[in-house]
Amino acid sequence: MQVLVFNAGSSSLKFGIFSVATETREVFKGCYERFRAGGCEYRFRHGETDERGAAEFDSPGEALKGVPAALKRFGLDAIDAVGHRIVHGGARFSSPTLLDDETVEAIEALTPLAPLHNPTNLEAVRLCRGLWPDIRQVAVFDTAFHLSNPAFVTTYAVPLKWREAGLRRYGFHGTSHKYVAERAAQEIGRPLSDLQLVSIHLGNGASICAVNRGYSMDSSMGMTPLEGLVMGTRSGDVDPGAFGFLSRELQLSVQEIEDALYDESGLKGLAGSSDMRDIEDRAAKGDPQAQLTIEIYAYRAKKYVGAFAAAMGGLDAIVFTGGIGENSPSMRRRICDGLDFMGLQLDHDRNMAVNLSGRAAPQIQAYGSRVRVFVTETAEQLMIARETAAALAVVPPGGQLRLPVAVSARHVHLSREAVDGLFGKGYVLDQATPLRQPGHWAARERVTLVGPKGRLERVAILGPLRERTQIEVSRTDSFALGIDVPVRDSGRLEATPQVTIEGPAGSFTTDGLIIAARHIHTNPADAARQGIEDGEYVDVRVNDDDRTLTFGRTLVRVGKDSFTEVHIDTDEANAAGIEVAATGELVQV
Ligand code: ADP
Repeated sequence: MQVLVFNAGSSSLKFGIFSVATETREVFKGCYERFRAGGCEYRFRHGETDERGAAEFDSPGEALKGVPAALKRFGLDAIDAVGHRIVHGGARFSSPTLLDDETVEAIEALTPLAPLHNPTNLEAVRLCRGLWPDIRQVAVFDTAFHLSNPAFVTTYAVPLKWREAGLRRYGFHGTSHKYVAERAAQEIGRPLSDLQLVSIHLGNGASICAVNRGYSMDSSMGMTPLEGLVMGTRSGDVDPGAFGFLSRELQLSVQEIEDALYDESGLKGLAGSSDMRDIEDRAAKGDPQAQLTIEIYAYRAKKYVGAFAAAMGGLDAIVFTGGIGENSPSMRRRICDGLDFMGLQLDHDRNMAVNLSGRAAPQIQAYGSRVRVFVTETAEQLMIARETAAALAVVPPGGQLRLPVAVSARHVHLSREAVDGLFGKGYVLDQATPLRQPGHWAARERVTLVGPKGRLERVAILGPLRERTQIEVSRTDSFALGIDVPVRDSGRLEATPQVTIEGPAGSFTTDGLIIAARHIHTNPADAARQGIEDGEYVDVRVNDDDRTLTFGRTLVRVGKDSFTEVHIDTDEANAAGIEVAATGELVQV
């Protein structure tokens, strides 16, 4: 599949063509930048060709209209899909999303969250939908990776009214953090789900992300891309008290303060240049202000590395990326210096000799360092191409959405009373793994189920806590326990059998034992696209191979922010030959 990817900013238009198969390969790379009245500069790279020149476009939007002609000139106008980088996906967009009128409108509604970025991204979407009306287009969100951040990370300690208005932390650069984390895991040769990583993206914008066992747990950026590290022109962390002070002392308006924090701060505010190369050159010549700037920059980054290692409770590797992370050995050294106490030691020769050609991800830690240190180029556009193709694989052209099918192994939902009985009064479960449904998690702790005929050990606990304890097993499990268990919709627990749950601090006997009836979680937008409604029963066909199977009477459950997914149990999955996951589609009856 040939995917055209756009990254439309306010001062540049970057685009690329990627060939997505088992491997994703960049075929063409284009950029229009330095826009001024009457023209701009461009650079196109394709195979051996590296062409630079001037074009007549005076804005990224105008330049985009010139892309079809540019591609035609290189014989690359046969594309199958378009992927767009969208900075803010709010709380709704947790995965790459097919762009149609409804989703474009929903993204537009998020503009107040990212007034500087989303409108430019959306202008590119609109122009592309006009230029390629028959080609499917997908939005890939910078915020999506971080929607797994737990509530204690995303919530600011501010009045309820503000939080209700939408003030919360999101985090950005998700596509980059996800890519480099996967790249490091690949080099280590272990699944991402085994690893605790800190990804350090130092470009013009900069952020650090705690990638805890495959999920983003925290990011240094917050509600906006202003929080966190010192950046090219953005301040990063500043006491919010500054607003009142500056308004009183310098009579600055909110707009003036905000503009200065975005455009006149960071490296530029400290040293007069947003370019780290200039600053490093000046520091080397003895300029004290440039030297202080470098110290501030490195200190802030180091502080977040330590904070995120503590937040995750462990650290296997850190990964440097972005223009500064990839190219500045002295900045990498400053950030790593003094972290020996947590098992991180750099090898200075390796750090100086980093070569990133061929998508390499060299390791630069010292021999014996417990924490590995990687450097690798980020590849946001490549990742967008990959995610676009993956999103479209779920939606056949002109056809129905394919529904991800997830297999629910046996698990329990506990009440407060049950947790007290099993783990001790007031015990707080460790929310170890976020689940795909927003706000839901699997706990690190496990319990044992006990019936008259047998025991089921290491049963998962899923959160958040519920009013009533509910225990979900399969038909096969019910025989192992020796209890006749009815098939029920979740929450319908009247007259259900009793079972004993054992925990480290005691046991708890309760009713609420069910075989969960299969169901589809979905959100209003996906439900509308599928033509289904909350409470309705539908038929879902899974697998297209020789184990294809249609599940009748599958309950539709629509939730505001639910991730669309069919839930079946292990017996049903075995019957359909599904090992971990599959996709299905609605059967029209
Ligand atoms: P963007 O976030 O716009 O993609 P980049 O990732 O290209 O930005 O990073 C730009 C930053 O990288 C600039 O501050 C630039 O000075 C810095 N940079 C690039 N090359 C070097 C280098 N060799 N040494 C130090 N800094 C560098």
